[in-house]
Amino acid sequence: MDRMKPARSVTRRSALAACVAAASTAALSSCVPSGSAASSEAPKKGLAQYGFWMDSRVCAGCASCVAACREANSTPDDCEARRRIISYVFDRGESRFVSVSCMHCAQPACVAACPAGAITKRADGIVEVDQSRCIGCKYCHASCPFGVPHYTSLGMDKCDCCLGAGIKPGKDPYCVQACPAKALQYGKLEDLHRRAEEAVGKVGLLESPTEPSFYLT
Ligand code: SF4
Ligand code: SF4
Ligand code: SF4
Repeated sequence: MDRMKPARSVTRRSALAACVAAASTAALSSCVPSGSAASSEAPKKGLAQYGFWMDSRVCAGCASCVAACREANSTPDDCEARRRIISYVFDRGESRFVSVSCMHCAQPACVAACPAGAITKRADGIVEVDQSRCIGCKYCHASCPFGVPHYTSLGMDKCDCCLGAGIKPGKDPYCVQACPAKALQYGKLEDLHRRAEEAVGKVGLLESPTEPSFYLT
């Protein structure tokens, strides 16, 4: 299989976005989407953990997910959206797009790094931030292998699976609802694993010490 090379971020944002995308690209590029760097284990049955399945085979890079996230979560204009698109190019010239946000890791480095106790992992696996407790130190950004956390005047901001935008746990968040290709799917890892394997064969979670709740095909 051809190696994939990171090409460019298609997020229409500032230099900060480029840095964030570069961090994500570095971490993701070894894992996309040959499956060779993914964990081969299926999630444990009954595991309470929500996550995402990103099917880059069918993503057109339209960024509808990014726009829907920004609108639903009222992201300020001067702040990064909680989701972004990274594009990759195979050696033979084929392009793929990957839509990425917080991956609600099983071992979230951001939670461990936060000195203010502002980030917590819920019983359903969703990692959320309490902006009222954030002191703005940015340790979470430094610790996250994917450079996910970013900052507003209110403190750290990242994906909360749209809980703050009124979506109940387990219901499709706005980015997933907005995807015209159904390239982005959300749910319990067990369900996502089954859906992804029905579509493409054997899949594994993205491999990282933080154990992201993220399938990438
Ligand atoms: S992707 Fe980064 S910000 Fe999200 S839970 Fe994992 S370590 Fe934390
Ligand atoms: S920036 Fe805020 S959320 Fe992040 S580690 Fe510091 S106090 Fe915690
Ligand atoms: S789940 Fe909600 S907050 Fe997270 S990236 Fe999607 S739209 Fe944004």
